Amino acid sequence: MTDSTPPLEDTSSGHGAKWLLPAIIAGVLLGGLFGAFMPEQAEGLEFLGELFLNALKMLIVPLVVSSMISGIASLGDVRKLGKPGLLTVGLYAATTALAVFIGVIFVNLLKPGVGVAVEGAGQAPPKRLIIQQESTYIVLDKEQHYYTEDGQPVRKVVAKVHSQKEAEEATKEGEKSLVGVIAKVLRMMVAENIIESAAHTDILPLIFFSLLFGGVLTTLGAKGQIVLDFFDGVAEAMMSMVNLIMYTAPIGIFALIAARLGKAGGGTAFFGEIAKLGNYSLCVILALLFHAVLLAGIYALLARRNPIHFFRTLFKALTTAFSTASSSATLPLTMECSEEAGVSPEATAFVLPLGATVNMNGTALYESVAAIFIAQAYGIQLDFGGQLVVFVTATLAAIGAAGIPEAGLVTMLIVLNAAGLPTEGVGLLLSIDWFLDRCRTAINVWGDAVVGGCVDEMVFSKLDKAPTLPAD
Ligand code: ASP
Repeated sequence: MTDSTPPLEDTSSGHGAKWLLPAIIAGVLLGGLFGAFMPEQAEGLEFLGELFLNALKMLIVPLVVSSMISGIASLGDVRKLGKPGLLTVGLYAATTALAVFIGVIFVNLLKPGVGVAVEGAGQAPPKRLIIQQESTYIVLDKEQHYYTEDGQPVRKVVAKVHSQKEAEEATKEGEKSLVGVIAKVLRMMVAENIIESAAHTDILPLIFFSLLFGGVLTTLGAKGQIVLDFFDGVAEAMMSMVNLIMYTAPIGIFALIAARLGKAGGGTAFFGEIAKLGNYSLCVILALLFHAVLLAGIYALLARRNPIHFFRTLFKALTTAFSTASSSATLPLTMECSEEAGVSPEATAFVLPLGATVNMNGTALYESVAAIFIAQAYGIQLDFGGQLVVFVTATLAAIGAAGIPEAGLVTMLIVLNAAGLPTEGVGLLLSIDWFLDRCRTAINVWGDAVVGGCVDEMVFSKLDKAPTLPAD
């Protein structure tokens, strides 16, 4: 990016004042106390949290588009993106798989679901049903899909086959969601109406469009340069706006935490819910923390920089992720803090928007723990094959989950369906999901940032940058 005039407000580091971090920590603690002891009053603060959330969200589209275009342009040639592209996707996939693996290990060791009382525990999950009519086997779906005119529930016919073996195959087939998730992500990348995507803050099509647009602009000579300069200016302005909004983070975070805890009925009600699912919550949180430490190790190894410093600099983004439960809404801060930690603007622009949409380490880990927890609670033995299905689907379900609050709960159904576990088991987790969602969102953001730092060190720092033409 080209040099700019100094930020609107002079700060010691150029990235937020020194008082901000302690103020945010105070916001978290006071928000927790206020929500715990004065739940009714705390709920009334919701609007303050919403203001902060909206202020962040309004920056996402202009920030992603302008910083990607300007980042590509400063590399000079879109073909240079092949290597960082592959590395980013590879690291995202590897860290997500690692997260699921850790989830599977923790939930198998701690067994939080054993002994949890649920209705229908010990029964086999509802399966597709086979009815034999003479030489035809009719396979019915496990859900009741529609009703006849006289109100009789009717199951959907999945297949009509002519042998018991074929019928059994058809019952095993289950959801076609695995391919579905990948197809969904690919389909989402290319949208027919980019304005509509922007209106819905759909990041993937914006990334694709900006990559193409920025790449093409670099081939247009002087004409392209004018447009690039424009987006470069927009990108810098957006970063300065993130900086400004960050000053409201202590109050925003305070209000978000207080209001949510207030909504949950205050401290006693919250701890009551946590205690009911105490072992499960503990298992999720311990596994998330363990994974966070592993990610720090990966950062030290691949980015060759100090992970503790990186964590401290990212802390503002991580607490925002915790208080908003949305990695998309946190994206502007993740980008800002990463740059503050020394990650190049090119790597930040290239790696993080994609990560906010597809890379969810915390969600992946959570989904594997939750699925196996449900199996344990229902007394269902998951053999190695079953656990493998959970492993693969949890990875894919996390990719398919949007960076918004409790999106992981919906994609959980894919995992449960694929592993043949009772989907109604999700009901067990509802009361506490809003809290665990916040914990996993923080790890989602940490995972994105770590990969951003690694890709920066491994590829971007070694690329020749395009010489920047004078702006006028
Ligand atoms: N809330 C998470 C996020 O925004 C997604 C989820 O796990 O529900 O990253």
